[in-house]
Amino acid sequence: MLMHADGASPPAFSWDHWYASVGGRSISIAEVNEYLKAIHEDQYKRFNGPIAPERHVFATAEEASAAVKSKAKEFGADIVGVCLIEPSDIYRGRSVNESHAIAVGQRMRWTEFQVVPSHASAVECLRIYWTLGETVIQLAAWIRSLGYTCAVEHPIGDSDLLHIPIGLKAGFGELGRHGSIIHPELGPLFRMGSVITSIPMAVDRPIDAGIAAFCDSCKACRIYCPAKAIPDHRNPVAGKDHLGNDRYQIDTGKCFPYFATHNYCSICLPVCVYNHKEWARDFPQPGDPVVATKLFPEVVMHAPPPEATAVPTDTRHQFDRVTSTIEGPKKSKPADE
Ligand code: SF4
Ligand code: SF4
Repeated sequence: MLMHADGASPPAFSWDHWYASVGGRSISIAEVNEYLKAIHEDQYKRFNGPIAPERHVFATAEEASAAVKSKAKEFGADIVGVCLIEPSDIYRGRSVNESHAIAVGQRMRWTEFQVVPSHASAVECLRIYWTLGETVIQLAAWIRSLGYTCAVEHPIGDSDLLHIPIGLKAGFGELGRHGSIIHPELGPLFRMGSVITSIPMAVDRPIDAGIAAFCDSCKACRIYCPAKAIPDHRNPVAGKDHLGNDRYQIDTGKCFPYFATHNYCSICLPVCVYNHKEWARDFPQPGDPVVATKLFPEVVMHAPPPEATAVPTDTRHQFDRVTSTIEGPKKSKPADE
């Protein structure tokens, strides 16, 4: 089944256009470059592999979904959910063959966001892209070993699917004012990738935990955004979120010049009040030293560079639109915790 993007789909984020608009790639950090090299030169080659000739048949869609989620966790996912793919989830000009997306998320380390923007936070952004890449590549290899085709949608970009509507439908959380998904426990400090396949699987549902409603009375991310890219009000022409609210629309022409020249910025994530700090600060990794953490990051507010207006409007990435929920939201925590 070949599925094409529909008229509601935005263009894929045109990284080259955007970097050209701010004078080229200027962030050069040795660890960042190493992760980029590992992703492009090693992980990209492992997106495909042999498919077992004999197909494993699951007894039920629920069993298939449970097995896939269990494996995703084994391969390093902190959260995982399943949803159907709709044409509006596919970037304009792209197409997919698969019916289901397995969304995986991994939390980022709070200790690396104690100062934002910083080299530490930039490296953490790339580290999580690499580790998530390993998770989706291993999950895809396991699915192929069961005799099913699948495709890797890597978190770093140039994917066929829009990660945000997929994550919302998979029950990861709600869309925040800052344009990122807020998970009830992880807050917004996590990243997503996915594997798409046509294994018949039970799907999760979007959630309504009151997070989007809270954003209407909280403006922390807007106040701390140095580029003033986060809006005061919801935009009636920016599409709806999965709860049917008008979306907050980030001004990418203001955000990207700052993001691209200030260590991938990320200020709006650690300042978001939905970071559960008592959980986030207890984030020791095996072998890591114990690091004292603050409840609120130190925010370095450099003056914003000029807005990027040179990018053609038809290649500007208006933030993802969510046009359908397939099933309505449920008032609870995400399904797979
Ligand atoms: S990444 Fe930085 S510039 Fe962009 S919206 Fe967030 S705080 Fe603003
Ligand atoms: S900082 Fe406040 S307004 Fe911004 S996304 Fe988080 S909860 Fe919503």
